[in-house]
Amino acid sequence: MRIAIVGGGLAAAHAIEELRRLGHEDQVDLFCAEEHVPYNRPPLSKGVLLGKDDESSIFVHDEQWYVDNAVELHFGDEVTALDLEGKRIAVGSETFGYDQLLISTGAAPKRLADADQNAGSVAYLRTLEDSRALKAAFGPDRCVLIVGAGWIGLEVAAAARTAGSSVTVVESAELPLLRVLGPEVATIFAELHRSHGVDLRLGAGIESFKSDGSGTSAVRLEDEAEIEADLVVVGIGVTPNDGLAAAAGLEVDNGILVDERLRTLDPNVFAAGDVANHLHPVLGRRIRVEHWDTAIEQGKLAAHNLLGAEEPYSRLPYFFTDQYDLGMEYVGYVGSDGYDEVILRGDPRDQFTAFWLKGDQVLAGMHVNDWDAIDPIKAIVGSSVPPGRLRDQSVDLAAIAP
Ligand code: FAD
Repeated sequence: MRIAIVGGGLAAAHAIEELRRLGHEDQVDLFCAEEHVPYNRPPLSKGVLLGKDDESSIFVHDEQWYVDNAVELHFGDEVTALDLEGKRIAVGSETFGYDQLLISTGAAPKRLADADQNAGSVAYLRTLEDSRALKAAFGPDRCVLIVGAGWIGLEVAAAARTAGSSVTVVESAELPLLRVLGPEVATIFAELHRSHGVDLRLGAGIESFKSDGSGTSAVRLEDEAEIEADLVVVGIGVTPNDGLAAAAGLEVDNGILVDERLRTLDPNVFAAGDVANHLHPVLGRRIRVEHWDTAIEQGKLAAHNLLGAEEPYSRLPYFFTDQYDLGMEYVGYVGSDGYDEVILRGDPRDQFTAFWLKGDQVLAGMHVNDWDAIDPIKAIVGSSVPPGRLRDQSVDLAAIAP
């Protein structure tokens, strides 16, 4: 049985590893639009951007591993069309057959047309090349303006400040990360960045970008403020790379629609990672998750189902970030219905845990700099606990976990 994987990122690498671990010996084809074997993206806005991690440490496996595991690598080859009926993949005029297909084409940064057209120097961050270019652009005497105070924007802000640049972050919401964390915890991230000298312009929209022709931009905010920047970094979210699947006739709506088992409408085609809009069996709703852990675990699970298993993907989302000396892990999902209460334990300026509850149901939990807490947090999230026990800081988290 010939298995093809379109999109050579994290989900792909882990799917292949699992296929071989499960004893699949037949041909595996991997189509990567990038000129690299699959790599981890989180260090691109952290260790690699800060110059702490060597670039070579980001690759899931080196090229030789794919050779040793008899993977047909199609590097720098963007798949241009899928023929689901004929079970063929087109790369320009060349075509390749498959029996089972995994689509893991990931996501691409949303563009800000006004910045692209009118600002001087504009950057986005998704690839190794993007990270290298940003790192080279940071340094003392540089003014960096970041549009968007989401995870990428804030991590880039931390790296730019650490490199000595002056940093302004413009965000239309009233707090950074407000939609994900809610005001109670988002405030902590705002304070963190302010304490490191970031000029946070919150609740602020951008009116216009203007270039002086030499790379410098004059950025005008809706409140009339003007900021000069040597570099504008846009971090306003990503769009799933689902156009190929849509053109092939698969159902697409904010990502490729897959069932609980990551299978598309076509029984021979699966999707995993950032591009998959998955029917989550525990949450009972569709979610598309843009996290490292989900890409890895969905890639692995897809391998099982490509080989005929019928396993549902039921893990809750898990996410981490590093900014300055703050390390955070978050598990769970707070949907559009929101939460009733956030319970904070510990010192918000140093080490703490936070839980988002609806009634006595714990929807999500996180810790900052309290690495031993993640196992009890994982045990607590998704269950019902007496909120009073969680509020009572004399009760150990491990004792609360059901
Ligand atoms: P990707 O890694 O995006 O890989 C998809 C690949 O498919 C790409 O190489 C793309 O070029 C290729 N492709 C697309 N279309 C085609 C085509 N037609 N033909 C061939 N190839 C194609 N997550 C966390 O949980 N924690 C973090 O701290 C964190 N930090 C991050 C920092 C950065 C800078 C970025 C960009 C992401 C970060 N993430 C983080 C998110 C995480 O990296 C992604 O969720 C993960 O990479 C998704 O993996 P994927 O395999 O679905 O897609």
